[in-house]
Formats: sequence, C-alpha cells, structure tokens
Amino acid sequence: MKVTIWNENVHEQREPEILTWYPGGIHETVARFIKDMPGVELVRTATLQMPDCGLPQDVLEDTDVLFWWGHMAHKDVPDELVERVYERVIRGMGLVVMHSGHLSKVFKRVLGCTGSLRWVDNTYGRIHTVMPSHPIAKGIPEHWELGIEETYGEPFGIPQPDELIFIGWFDSGEVFRSGCAWYRGNGKIFYFQPGHETNQSFNHPLVRKVLQNACQWVAPCNVVPKERSIWACPEISQTFERKTFEEILKEY
Ligand code: ZN
Repeated sequence: MKVTIWNENVHEQREPEILTWYPGGIHETVARFIKDMPGVELVRTATLQMPDCGLPQDVLEDTDVLFWWGHMAHKDVPDELVERVYERVIRGMGLVVMHSGHLSKVFKRVLGCTGSLRWVDNTYGRIHTVMPSHPIAKGIPEHWELGIEETYGEPFGIPQPDELIFIGWFDSGEVFRSGCAWYRGNGKIFYFQPGHETNQSFNHPLVRKVLQNACQWVAPCNVVPKERSIWACPEISQTFERKTFEEILKEY
C-alpha cells in the first residue's frame, strides 16, 4: 500500500510551538505512525507549499490512500487539483479527511456538501464507538477519553454517512458524528474529527489506531484504469455467447 499524507502546513509556520508536539508538522507526525503499519510499502508527505501542492498526477496515480489536513488555506488549493483528487477517488483511491478538513474543497467536492458545523476551542472530549463491528473500530474501546480538543457540534453539513462508526461528546454540551464513512464510485472515504492544531490528539494512541485502521479500510479493492473516463457511459454492443454450466466450471 502506498500512502500520501497531505497537509496545508500553514499553522506550523505561524505558530512554531506546534512543532514541539508535532515535530516536522502534522503531516510528518501522521506519516510516522502510518509507516509503522504492516502492508505499507511507501509513505509520502505533500504540502501546499510544494510544486503542484505535492500532488502532481503521477503521485496521485501512485497513491492508494490520501490523508488530508487543512484549515486556513482551503481556498489556496487549486480547483484543478481538487477535480483530479475527486476523479482519483471515484476510480478507487481511498481518502481520509482529518479534523478541519471538513471545509476543504476536496471533502466538499467528493461528498457534495457544505461540511459546515459548530465549534468552540479547548473543551474536553470523549468518543463513543457506535459501530464496534466495523473494521475501523477494530481494537477500539466502546468509549474513551480524547482529552482537550476543539468541540465540533451538530448539525454537521454532510450527506447521511453510509457507516457511522464514532460519535463524539464534549463538555461544551455538544455531540458530533466524529467518525463517518462513505462509498463514492470505487472509492471509500473516512472522516475523523480529532486533530486540532493546538491540541495533541495525533499523539493519542487510540486516535493513531483509528487512523491506521482507516488507512487499511479505505485502501482500494479495485481501481478503474486512468484511461477510462469516470464520465463514460458506453453503449453495450457485444453479443453474448452462452456457455453450459460444465463449460463455466472448466474455467476455474
Ligand atoms: Zn481545529
């Protein structure tokens, strides 16, 4: 599996104290615990400051799972790149969107939504695992303390999740659909709420475990080749020759 971790990497430059708990930035921190996973062959990091935002087409084609963290520079991500990411997800690339990525162009394009929500900083959070049978919940307790995090509150402007795996509770009095999964085309998408830049959730062992599980789950089962347009609706022209059941069995 080849994984690319994308981070806008703007907060880290304006508030360098973030680098004391996330050395190298959020992208390098996530990359370190994704590299530890079995089956991961390559982990790249990419940032807004790199040419093509670090995501030229050859990198996207060579990526099975893309992680996305952004906050204050969503508007600086070119629409053309957003469209290429969308197209790649529909063909089969997995996408994991973290925390404030809920307002990224990529999240809104892939899911067709506003991503809007309510928020307040420095509250205390707890997470409930509401779908313990889901692969992303493997090894995750029924409920667990997140610690100090930014409240995200409902209503969350998303399409109804295909799978709702985690619900967050905050001592601000809010609840939130913290861990949601969707299928779009051949692609799978997971959104996870923790990850505010001035808290330390990416150093929480269970946050890391959820993101590792998510990486495994969104990894593609089948990928549509890039030569085939996702918009194509070809006419069916082949005539079909029927085989006997005995002939079919001989093929296996
Ligand atoms: Zn935040």
